Amino acid sequence: MSRTLILVKPDGVKRQLIGEVLGRFERKGLSIAALKLVQLETSVVEEHYAHLNDKPFFGELVSFMTGGAVVAAILEGPSAVEVGRQVIGATNPLEAATGSIRGDLAIEAGENIVHGSDSDENAEIEVARFFPELG
Ligand code: UDP
Repeated sequence: MSRTLILVKPDGVKRQLIGEVLGRFERKGLSIAALKLVQLETSVVEEHYAHLNDKPFFGELVSFMTGGAVVAAILEGPSAVEVGRQVIGATNPLEAATGSIRGDLAIEAGENIVHGSDSDENAEIEVARFFPELG
């Protein structure tokens, strides 16, 4: 068993896709171990996306991620990180496979509905970042 950190981004929440998104992970076989609706602070988003802070879209990305509530979830299951990324699809929805969340439900690179951890190491860092109360 392993775990991954998922965010339903503000566009997914505003489009009323929380159930659709979480349902896709559940149907694949991952279990929800923790779940909450939260408004992210700018500092948390800047830390979360620090690897992109030299990109021209960074300011827009931070505004987008703080522009509405997100759903944060810890999902558990076999190969949770890899399975999570497969269910989510490629970063750019135009390159994401049909059948993936981004491939089916998004068009723009920025507003791509969902985040999922990209390694076991980052999953643990992100669980601590978004669920500090579980520490
Ligand atoms: N992003 C963007 N424009 C880009 C690339 C990325 O707005 O050209 C945003 C998008 O919301 C993406 C996030 O930055 O999900 C993080 O990018 P990363 O490369 O970490 O991809 P991810 O792990 O989300 O697939």
